[in-house]
Amino acid sequence: MSDRVIFSRPYRASRELANLEAVLDSDHSHGDGRFTKSATAKLKAITGAPHALLTTSCTHALELGALLLELGPDDEVIVPSFAFTSAATSIALRGATCVFVDIDTRTGNIDPVAVAEAITARTKAVLVMHYGGVAADMDALLDLAERHGLAIIEDNAHGLGGAWRGRRLGTLGTLGTQSFHDTKNVHCGEGGALLLNDEILMGRAEIMREKGTDRARFLRGQVDKYSWQDIGSSYLPSELNAAVLDAQLDDFETIQKERHRVWDTYAAALPEWAARKGVHLMHVPAEAEHTAHLYYLRMPTEDSRDGLIAHLAGRGIVAPFHYVPLDSSAAGLKYGRTPVACVRSAEFSGTLVRLPLWPMLTESQLTRVVEGITDYRW
Ligand SMILES: *Cc1c(COP(=O)(O)O)cnc(C)c1O
Repeated sequence: MSDRVIFSRPYRASRELANLEAVLDSDHSHGDGRFTKSATAKLKAITGAPHALLTTSCTHALELGALLLELGPDDEVIVPSFAFTSAATSIALRGATCVFVDIDTRTGNIDPVAVAEAITARTKAVLVMHYGGVAADMDALLDLAERHGLAIIEDNAHGLGGAWRGRRLGTLGTLGTQSFHDTKNVHCGEGGALLLNDEILMGRAEIMREKGTDRARFLRGQVDKYSWQDIGSSYLPSELNAAVLDAQLDDFETIQKERHRVWDTYAAALPEWAARKGVHLMHVPAEAEHTAHLYYLRMPTEDSRDGLIAHLAGRGIVAPFHYVPLDSSAAGLKYGRTPVACVRSAEFSGTLVRLPLWPMLTESQLTRVVEGITDYRW
């Protein structure tokens, strides 16, 4: 098969080169310049977040969030077993303990019942990852957070523009994080953002993001010199990254339309086959507006999953699986605790297949993927 169908291809936005040239021709390529301002405004418009800060990655936005919440060695944060490593490392870096809980198999998202059972006097926050841009059960999670006085961290790397009952993801909890890694819907190579509702947290976040200084206030003319105010690090991206991000955000509607076209093609082509073969397809609850970040299926067994991936690879189609559960990983055992075995997460991870999904995937490539799946025998 000459024409490989790759898993993901970063989108090319029309204004990227012009924006980059404008930065390189200016005398300003360090952070917080014109494109950072412009991209931040677009991000706020898409998410409805009152406050947003561009960061060098989603991982760094999560680390900044952990600093803001003042996580320390006495604290526990409840984390879904099925999540990306950055969620757990941001907590472990503060010396806090990750308490891993199981997921809801219908969505791959954290199970509120498991969260309720894992809350202790030391619990400070719950980390929620909206898998595939499909919202977790935010009614139940927000209710638990309110009753127990817990912060909610939304790892919204997949969920830019998604919603739960019309409320934008990344803005429902205490803080939300976005990723602009080149595997995400909108990208600038590497990049991220922190979304905040609270003005006081925002005041502290902009200091922590700029090496612990009040440089942001200085740039706004609010202080006549900037100085060391707090702990922090360097989490601001360069204008070169912001210039690419700004161009991508200009094309956000086109990107999403294209991704939904691909997603809808899979969702229309596979149900009859899936029902016949006992395969579960990606499920979107009625309350959730998803972002077409990914499309997945869950095979009946791990063997049939491995077999399907190999079968597709033989036809030049790349369909990986991802993530390996955090609770049973080497660092998970060291930095976390797992009160109840996360059997649903292990099963979800063990049967998962993710299909190629990117904006310019052609109809003939999609037909090949669908045929590759439906003529697999096990
Ligand atoms: C990609 C991803 C991250 C990390 O994003 P970076 O910008 O690469 O740091 C974190 N969480 C989830 C769910 C992701 O998919």
